[in-house]
Amino acid sequence: MAAADVGIPEDIRDLVKGAVSGMHQFVDSEVLPMEQQMGQVLVDERKFFDERGRAVQEIIDAKRQVRMKSARAGYYAMFAPESVGGDGLGVRSMVFVEEALYRRYGPGRPLITWAKGFLTQPTIASFVDGPSHMLVSVSDSVRKDYLPAISAGEKMVCFALSEADAGSDVWGINTRAKRDGDDWVINGSKQWITNSPYADYAVVFAITNDDLMAERKGGISAFFVETAADGYTFDGVLPVMGHQGGDCGSMSFDNLRVPADRLIGVQDQGFQIAMLGISEGRISISANCIGMCGYALDRSLEYAQQRMSFGKPISEYQAIQFMLADMAIDIFTMKYMVLQTAALVETFPQTGRLPVKEISIAKAYAVEKTQECYDRAIQVHGGMGLTNEMPLNEGFRVARTLRIPDGTGEIQRRTIARQMLRGDTVF
Ligand SMILES: Cc1cc2nc3c(=O)[nH]c(=O)nc-3n(C[C@H](O)[C@H](O)[C@H](O)COP(=O)(O)OP(=O)(O)OC[C@H]3O[C@@H](n4cnc5c(N)ncnc54)[C@H](O)[C@@H]3O)c2cc1C
Repeated sequence: MAAADVGIPEDIRDLVKGAVSGMHQFVDSEVLPMEQQMGQVLVDERKFFDERGRAVQEIIDAKRQVRMKSARAGYYAMFAPESVGGDGLGVRSMVFVEEALYRRYGPGRPLITWAKGFLTQPTIASFVDGPSHMLVSVSDSVRKDYLPAISAGEKMVCFALSEADAGSDVWGINTRAKRDGDDWVINGSKQWITNSPYADYAVVFAITNDDLMAERKGGISAFFVETAADGYTFDGVLPVMGHQGGDCGSMSFDNLRVPADRLIGVQDQGFQIAMLGISEGRISISANCIGMCGYALDRSLEYAQQRMSFGKPISEYQAIQFMLADMAIDIFTMKYMVLQTAALVETFPQTGRLPVKEISIAKAYAVEKTQECYDRAIQVHGGMGLTNEMPLNEGFRVARTLRIPDGTGEIQRRTIARQMLRGDTVF
């Protein structure tokens, strides 16, 4: 589909075209040769992960190199706000650039996606690993001492909200922070935290006011924490969807002391910071989905025209054509839904209102349709679709995984319905 140009508004056209061609060039010249050089380590999980499920040091170093090179080339932090060391490019630009990257490289190139944790690419920072809107309200000392290395791709963060008994229901968290002199002392544990096996720092959410918490009106605060500090223990990797290791993990805090200036934003108002991160994640996931589906469609169109069955290319059978057409219908719908949502998010600094309903609609639709899209692409490819030679089965697993983090499909629908029942019925 060359229709992408039609959708790029005039005001960001040059910027998007420059970023897309620059990033393609960057990945082709810097990342792909690294992949080739590393060979089997990348594709054989027995070599990729150690016995605890953690990526081996060679992989960790290679990913750091990609991030740092990308940062030096001006890509890694391009969508992060300027105040945290990024370039502050808008959300619509992010949608176009992430779509273009995933469409060209697909979901299954090891260094580009699954090795990182199903959510984004190491060439572009996200709120679960790098500089993001969540860090805008850190103290001046954190900004000065920590953010430069984070936006340079040298150090990484993770976003630690969920716990064993609190996933969809954020208000169920049990981790607590108590003030003691000039410090906060944190006790508790977190689970399912993307990038936690590798992160240098964690944004940890903890209860700081039980009364506000009981009323669900606040009482949660966010803290910037060093993962190497005494009292912080990484408890283990949680591999998902058939992999032998991964990027998700759990950790615990035992009298973990953090200086008072590590509080992020306003005390007791950390829930808003969490929602800022999660909203960013939902849009980014949706943008990735457009590109992932484009990749699956491109491969299916190629394959359908060259694969012969009963003396004809399978593309001549209506059953196959309908699958291709259904993929196109979903991609087209997804793309303009996500772009409209991105345009609304860009008005946030003026209106102070996040388009909560639209973000949930876009995330739910994009991830669910991506799974259907990969199912169809596998079907078009027959047995080839199931092999590890093609990244289609990986795309299917990624898509299935994406239906859980940053809010399950049920939680997105709950949010959409609640917003409408509060009067937000504009479409
Ligand atoms: C790969 C992966 C990466 C993740 N990364 C992070 C991360 O970086 N940081 C982080 O903090 N967390 C992370 N999470 C946690 C993720 O946000 C939670 O898993 C998710 O919110 C669901 O919570 P849960 O697993 O506890 O399921 P539950 O909340 O127990 O839900 C179980 C089921 O009940 C449904 N359900 C729950 N409440 C309702 C309701 N009110 N109405 C209808 N249905 C409901 C759910 O939709 C689901 O189907 C990650 C999870 C995964 C799988």
